[in-house]
Amino acid sequence: MSFAAEFDSLPLRALASRSFGASVATARESLEQSTLSLHDFAHLISPAAVELLEPMSRRAQQLTRQRFGKVIRLFAPLYLSNECINNCKYCGFSRDNAILRVTLSVEEVRREAQALLDQGFRNILLVAGEHPKFVSNDYLRQCIAALHEHVPSVSLEVGPMETADYQPLVAAGADGLVVYQETYDRNVYAEMHTAGPKRNFNWRLETPERAYAAGFRRLGISPLYGLADWRYEALSVAAHAQYLLRNCWKAYVTISLTRLRPCAGEFQPLTHIGDRDLVQLMCAFRLMFPDVGLVLSTRETPKMRNGLIPLGITMLSAGSHTEPGGYTGAGRDHLHQTQRGRIVAIESSSEWAPTPEHPTLATEQFHIADERSPHEVAEQIRRLGYEPVWKDWDMALTS
Ligand code: SF4
Repeated sequence: MSFAAEFDSLPLRALASRSFGASVATARESLEQSTLSLHDFAHLISPAAVELLEPMSRRAQQLTRQRFGKVIRLFAPLYLSNECINNCKYCGFSRDNAILRVTLSVEEVRREAQALLDQGFRNILLVAGEHPKFVSNDYLRQCIAALHEHVPSVSLEVGPMETADYQPLVAAGADGLVVYQETYDRNVYAEMHTAGPKRNFNWRLETPERAYAAGFRRLGISPLYGLADWRYEALSVAAHAQYLLRNCWKAYVTISLTRLRPCAGEFQPLTHIGDRDLVQLMCAFRLMFPDVGLVLSTRETPKMRNGLIPLGITMLSAGSHTEPGGYTGAGRDHLHQTQRGRIVAIESSSEWAPTPEHPTLATEQFHIADERSPHEVAEQIRRLGYEPVWKDWDMALTS
């Protein structure tokens, strides 16, 4: 049975209410369990469990050191294209946003990857909006093949596909797939996704399973905190991770802690998850899933990222650009706008037109909060007593 088929029968709303009503004593009992159930997880993310944040952090730290050692894996996103056929209210790349768009050529992608290799990265996440015309499967396959020889670990965060369409991408050298459900609340999901194939909630929810069937061996999932109640989202993604660990057992599962950031369109978060909530949530994830990778991006501030490193984070992005061409300026000479799938040139009189004084790049997906260079992030990781690791996977290990 797929996770989508199981999802609606899970008591996630009841667990979210249970979380609100939990007492400190119940949360303490859950903290003492060696294996946690979803009920225990609900208690650990409860308002009452805030009082237990110290013992929770200690235990999360211990578990992480036991299972992962004192290492933090670094990766960088490489945006291939900001074309998209979907309208997602919270995303700057939405098709109705009049932004500067571009799809990098394979040669430009190679240059961007070289810039990341020069900074030390060996683990690259290729990101693109969903647009079959500009971001075809064959284009993705060519990009992966171009990078495969020099980049040991290539993951994808692109529009969901059928298993058969994923297979050539795995064969070309991609090993990981990241797909955020954005929100596990069906009503909010319908409200946020107003046009395009992304409107299909179940199709997206089943994506990690199709990716696994195609041969991907690293699966990343997450909601985007800020759209629905964070406790409900956390319980849902925990249930999703449980399902993947049971059914896609050869895969290494990661959960991201992703909060909404400002973007083109200036969408404001609908719900709030505070810094302390995020710390509590991260500790609860670690206690529930001792072996799952926990990922934090440059959406979070340096202070928050530094603070979470010793508690259980295992992967960090660094020095990120969220626009295609952000690392080298690639694509600058073929920027355009896109209307109804058609490229529209930018008039020189347009407010968008680049000038020698303002050589514009494509529009970014969101503004990052940690602008430190990868080198500075690596130094900070060392200062905290951890080892930054640039390469965390090798296809040779799985063959
Ligand atoms: S979130 Fe993804 S699918 Fe939605 S508009 Fe942005 S790039 Fe497109």
